[in-house]
Amino acid sequence: MFCMYFLMLPPDSPQQAESAYQSHSGRLAAARQMGFMVQPYIKECENIQEIKAFIDYWDHERWNLPFGIDGVVIKVNQTELWERLGTTAKSPRWAIAYKFKAERVSTPLVEVSYQVGRTGIVTPVANLQPVWLGGTMVRRATLNNADFIAKLDIRQGDSLLVEKGGEIIPKIVGVDLEKRVDGALPIAYTTVCPVCGTPLVRTEGEAGHYCPNRDGCLPQMLGQLEHFVSRRAMDIDSLGSERLKLLFDAGLVHNVADLYDLTRQKLVGLGEGSASSIQDKGADNILRALEESKKVPFERVLFALGIRYVGEVGAKKLSRYFGNINKLMAANVMELAMVEDIGEVTAEAVYDYFNNPVHREMVERLRTAGLQMEVVDTRIGNQLQGMTIVVSGVFQHFSRDEIKASIEQHGGKAGSSISGKTTYLLAGDNMGPEKLKKAEKLNVPIISESDYERMIGMDGTK
Ligand SMILES: [Zn+2]
Repeated sequence: MFCMYFLMLPPDSPQQAESAYQSHSGRLAAARQMGFMVQPYIKECENIQEIKAFIDYWDHERWNLPFGIDGVVIKVNQTELWERLGTTAKSPRWAIAYKFKAERVSTPLVEVSYQVGRTGIVTPVANLQPVWLGGTMVRRATLNNADFIAKLDIRQGDSLLVEKGGEIIPKIVGVDLEKRVDGALPIAYTTVCPVCGTPLVRTEGEAGHYCPNRDGCLPQMLGQLEHFVSRRAMDIDSLGSERLKLLFDAGLVHNVADLYDLTRQKLVGLGEGSASSIQDKGADNILRALEESKKVPFERVLFALGIRYVGEVGAKKLSRYFGNINKLMAANVMELAMVEDIGEVTAEAVYDYFNNPVHREMVERLRTAGLQMEVVDTRIGNQLQGMTIVVSGVFQHFSRDEIKASIEQHGGKAGSSISGKTTYLLAGDNMGPEKLKKAEKLNVPIISESDYERMIGMDGTK
């Protein structure tokens, strides 16, 4: 965000360098003298009227600037007052932002088109008669979902009110009712996927419609491949989205199991001449990463499959509960819903996924390829049996994920928030003040990283 400054109260004595530092304007002037870029749209104001006049001036003049701004910042100039004024939880009291009112225009809606995202979610888009707004030409704006269209009561042939506030993205905020034609018909929301023509589905309680053809709808097929190779899933970083598209277009990879049929011969020379082309070294990297991915634990393989509503936590809970993919695939909806944190909607999604023969075949191919399809007990010890430990802050010897994994490997449970059931708060550097407060309030003992290492015998005492 670009801002302009108003400054109240001039510095005491501009002649003296030291006193110049006692004012914000003096500091900025000094910075400019040293050669730093300091923006020139600054004014020292003596009183509130001058501030108001400055705001009014820039509210109009801002359109002539070579960059976009959405407001100004007003600061107290005397730095000695800064400390006395203090700060709120979020910001200092000696500086405040003034936001200009968002610019709003009315423009005819030409038609509503639909986009399909990588997860199959369909988003309606308003194609507008091009209109100049906040320094750019606006042609399209999202309509979010069917509820949004219904709530604003957008009809065919309407003119829409478009706003552009602080964000760069234009927003539809309403209908220009003065321009509505008598008898205008409501928008007929699409019933089929604009990409593959499959009838759309809407899950109860969700605003968006989605295309259920996840295995045959182009953006979704690519989306699944991208999800599968992503860092928190199979972590195959030599396959970015460009390369996946290349493999897809070459007809080599249409689903995630196809990845494990790739050979050096198939890969080398792909995309010749493009930035994502694959040469000898690239092919080796891809094959090595695919080989490495066979060590990825079952819970992440399950997450990587991209089953609707099954995130990292859900995948973890399901894999621990069932232990292997055979038991998971054999479970009915009721059994699935017994798992902690797995609601009925998710249970149904998991059941539907594994009862689709296409997915069963894909799982078999992945199993044959050598992917982990069962939980391997990674427990090292039982020192933390029965304990729930919440971690906060930054640690010397562990990343956040590592220390959580370590807690579980020693029989403990890594909690996400402090409650009466928390055994310890494990505090690293820069821990959150809220957690500290809560721990003190609930009398949860706080331990350090070295205390923790002693507990699990990492310091050589056990
Ligand atoms: Zn589709």
